[in-house]
Amino acid sequence: MNEAFVQLVCPDCRKDWEAKPMDLPAPDAAFACPDCEAERPVAEFMRTDRDLEVLKEFEAV
Ligand SMILES: [Zn+2]
Repeated sequence: MNEAFVQLVCPDCRKDWEAKPMDLPAPDAAFACPDCEAERPVAEFMRTDRDLEVLKEFEAV
């Protein structure tokens, strides 16, 4: 499996960044924005559906 990155964007402050799926919790777990500290499920930080799919696939392995 290739080492993938997922694109994240904060729904509150619009910060965008990328992260390795292995560094993120499960899609429905709480996650805090590193900038504004808004806490939301990880799934809400995924920029696109594709990013969410990558994260889900990673969690399923
Ligand atoms: Zn934020």
